[in-house]
Amino acid sequence: MKFLCVSCDEPMKFIKADAPEEGSVSIVFGCSKCNNQIAMLTNPQETQLVRAMGVSIGGSAVPPEPLTLTKGLMARREPSGDDEIVWTQDAEERLKKVPSFVQPMAKRAIISYAKENGIKEITPQVMDVVKEKTGM
Ligand SMILES: [Zn+2]
Repeated sequence: MKFLCVSCDEPMKFIKADAPEEGSVSIVFGCSKCNNQIAMLTNPQETQLVRAMGVSIGGSAVPPEPLTLTKGLMARREPSGDDEIVWTQDAEERLKKVPSFVQPMAKRAIISYAKENGIKEITPQVMDVVKEKTGM
């Protein structure tokens, strides 16, 4: 695409491009013979077209989207719920006294009981209740 100077019948030369508004570009062409100038103002769709034509718009290049890494990392963490529940030192020591082959099962039973009852802290008392209920 070229603009012709009507009076000189000369192809006009690209002089400058500005981005007066978001998405729009004004491009100035001038005739090298008579110094006649015209300006073309584009709307956002036409700006895409102009960019596709390879007109570089000085200083108004849109930076690439910043990576949304933080968002992705935070969404990846699946809430297990287990880390909300705290074991008191006494409770932990008591769990250690349980035969090791029973420990995982006992721990699961205690945690599920705590979750069901909204208990945030496992104490030996909580373990007693679970023991009574499960017979462990
Ligand atoms: Zn001219």
